[in-house]
Amino acid sequence: MCAAVLRLPPLPTIRDLIRLYRLKALKQLSQNFLLDERITDRIVKSAGDISGHYVCEVGPGPGGITRSIIKKHPRKLIVIEKDERFLPTLELLQEASQGFVDMHIEINDVRDFNFENALSEVPKEDWLGSPPPINIIGNLPFSISTNLVIRWLKAISQKQSAWAFGRSKMTLTFQKEVAERMKAPVTHKQRCRLSVMCQLWCNVKHKFTIPGRAFIPKPKVDVGVVTLEPLKEPFVDLPFEMVEKVLRHFFNMRQKISLKSALRLFPEELREELGEKLFILADVDSNARPFEITTEEYARLCYAYKLLCDDYPQIVDFDFRIRRKDIIGSY
Ligand code: SAM
Repeated sequence: MCAAVLRLPPLPTIRDLIRLYRLKALKQLSQNFLLDERITDRIVKSAGDISGHYVCEVGPGPGGITRSIIKKHPRKLIVIEKDERFLPTLELLQEASQGFVDMHIEINDVRDFNFENALSEVPKEDWLGSPPPINIIGNLPFSISTNLVIRWLKAISQKQSAWAFGRSKMTLTFQKEVAERMKAPVTHKQRCRLSVMCQLWCNVKHKFTIPGRAFIPKPKVDVGVVTLEPLKEPFVDLPFEMVEKVLRHFFNMRQKISLKSALRLFPEELREELGEKLFILADVDSNARPFEITTEEYARLCYAYKLLCDDYPQIVDFDFRIRRKDIIGSY
């Protein structure tokens, strides 16, 4: 492993490359570029020591963060970019780092990218051991960032994809408000379903905020850099969909007492009985509002719901929204 910073041969600046290749930012791909090397270096620094690691960068665009990653001398760098217009600028970096970093360019939608195949040479670590030398880094497109993190939480819960190798760490950007929601502790005004989902499986840190003016074009909001480290012992070991369903029902009515939202988990004829029972089994106050419930208590509520599903199999597929739609549809 080499901790030394790698010097790249002189290259045109990212600003010059954008001009040279006429890389006009596309709104539909949420393209906002970072040109300031101090900021891209700081993002990569937030990932910890990546020298000798396998790094997957999502959405490298013209390659600002990519340069900062290469300077840290990873063993292998896989960049996954949907927009093929960036191929020449990425190939330039590939050439410049040849012999030092094994860089692969994937022109693909990250949602279709198979991390497990791409990382197949990495030895698998025990989940309870040290994290594997894998980092996912990306200035994510706003349009898919929340959806992506939910997909990855599911993969973490199933120990699949990049998490088939152990507790691979993520360093990602989100709209500042989303970053705050992911991190929001119990009783915080931003606490929501996303907060609990993230915290059930990961240690979430909002490392720093990048002002919107640092991007070209400037987005309407500031951007938060977040690290997510999968927990050695997640709060729940239950099917992801089940957890997601319980939380969705709870946070449907954020300001109402939780019992009211929880009742909707059950068909009308069982509501009274099972609503109360859920909170008794979980030992959670049914008068608390959803944002006043701790992550640990949510885990207990999910386990209690699972027990009720075992006893009353008819509730497993019950979904209040679907039922209502059916009713409305039948008029
Ligand atoms: N990393 C560059 C930077 O910091 O300057 C660009 C960041 S820009 C916010 C997001 C990048 O993600 C763009 O290059 C965009 O083309 C790419 N992108 C958008 N949707 C994507 C997807 N589904 N899969 C892979 N890349 C995507």
